[in-house]
Amino acid sequence: MNPTGTVIDQPWLTADGAAEVMRALRAEGGTARFVGGCVRDALLGRAVRDIDVATDCPPQTVIRLLQAAGLKAVPTGIDHGTVTAIACGHPYEVTTLRLDVETDGRRAVVAFTDSWLEDARRRDFTFNALYADPDGAVYDPTDGLADLKAGRVRFIGDPYRRIEEDALRILRFFRFHAWFGRGTLDAAGLEACGARREDLDRLSVERVRAEMLRLLEAPSPMAALRAMAGAGVLARVLPEGTAMACLERLVALGPEDPLLRLAALTCRRHDVLSGLALRWKLSLRDRTRLRAMASGEAAVPADLLETDARSQIYWLGAERFRDLALLDWACDGHDRSRLVALAERWQAPSFPVKGADIVGSGIPQGQRVGAALRALERQWVEEGFEPSRAELLARLDSLE
Ligand code: ATP
Ligand code: MG
Repeated sequence: MNPTGTVIDQPWLTADGAAEVMRALRAEGGTARFVGGCVRDALLGRAVRDIDVATDCPPQTVIRLLQAAGLKAVPTGIDHGTVTAIACGHPYEVTTLRLDVETDGRRAVVAFTDSWLEDARRRDFTFNALYADPDGAVYDPTDGLADLKAGRVRFIGDPYRRIEEDALRILRFFRFHAWFGRGTLDAAGLEACGARREDLDRLSVERVRAEMLRLLEAPSPMAALRAMAGAGVLARVLPEGTAMACLERLVALGPEDPLLRLAALTCRRHDVLSGLALRWKLSLRDRTRLRAMASGEAAVPADLLETDARSQIYWLGAERFRDLALLDWACDGHDRSRLVALAERWQAPSFPVKGADIVGSGIPQGQRVGAALRALERQWVEEGFEPSRAELLARLDSLE
C-alpha cells in the first residue's frame, strides 16, 4: 500500500502518548498506523475524539511490545485483536489487522492477517478506512479521500452484504452523513439501508440509542433524518419521531443538544417521552430531563414578563426553563430569545432563611418548620427576591 501524498500535520500525531505507542509497536520491525475516525477527523481539521491504531503485529506481540516499553496493555477485546494501550494517561485502541471470516449480523469470527487491504475491506465506509503513519503520511486503499472531500458516505463493497453482516451500519450510514455528508446521499447505500431496515430489529437498544443520539448531536442532522424517514428506517427505530418541522426550527436555534432535539422530534408528548426514556434505558438524569421537556408541564409563553420569568427560573432551575423556552419557541415559532438569554445570564439568588432560623425563633422542630419555610420562600419569590432574612423572619408570627 503506497501513501497518497497527503500528509496530516497535527499535534496529536506526535503527542507524547501517541509517539510512545507507535515507537513500542514498531520496535521489532512491525508496522503500526493510525486509522479510522482520528485520521478522517484530522483531515477535516475537526477535533479528534478517540485514537485507533492498526498494526500487523499479532495481539500477544502487541501486549508484549507495549509492556516492554513500560506501557499498560489492557486486553479489552483480545478475541477481536484489540488491546488498549495506556500512555500518558490516554487510551489508544490497538487492533491487529484482521478480516471478518464469518458474521451473523451480531458477532464476527475474525482472522488476523498481514494485509492492509483486507483490513480496510472489513471496515464500513471508504473514509473510515484511511490510515496514517506517525509522520502523517496518509494511505487510502478504498478511495476514501475523494468521498470525504465530496461529502459522500460510501459503503466499502456491496452495501446489501455489508448490512447483512452488521445492521448497525444502517444507522452509521445516516449518522456519518449527518456529520460529514453533503448533498444527496449515496443512492446505492440508501437503497440498501431501506431494503434491509428490518435487520435493525436485531440490534440492542443500547447500540441504537448511542447511534441515534450521536446523529441528533450533529450540527446539521436534518438531511440525514429526512432521508432516514424516507427510507422507512426512522420509523423502525424511532416510530415516535415524526415532528420534523418542530425539530428543524430547533436545529436552526442552535443548541446541538441531542435530548432536546429528541423531545422536539417526538412532539413532546408526555406518554411518548416517558415510554422512550424507558425503552432506550436512559440514565436517571436523562430520563428526568426528557420527561420534564414534555409540553404542557410548565410552558414558557413568548410574552412572559421578566419578573415572572425569574420566578419560573427559580422554581424550575435555569436549565429546565431554558429547555422549555427553546422547545416552545421551536414548536410555535414565536421568538423567546429574551427569555433564553435571561436563563443563561441570570443567577438566581439563594433563599436567605434556613430551618435553624425558624427553630431559633421558637417554632418547635417538626412539620411546621417546613411549612413555614415554604410559605416564606413563596412570599420572597413573589416579591421579587427583595425581602431580607430579617424581614422574612419578622413575618413568622403572622403566618397562620
Ligand atoms: P467516531 O469515533 O467519531 O464515532 P469512528 O470512525 O472512529 O468515528 P468508531 O466506532 O470509533 O468510529 O470505529 C473506529 C473504526 O472502526 C471506524 O472508523 C471503522 O473503520 C471501523 N468500524 C467501527 N464500527 C464498524 C462497523 N460496525 N462495521 C465496520 N467497521 C466499523
Ligand atoms: Mg472512533
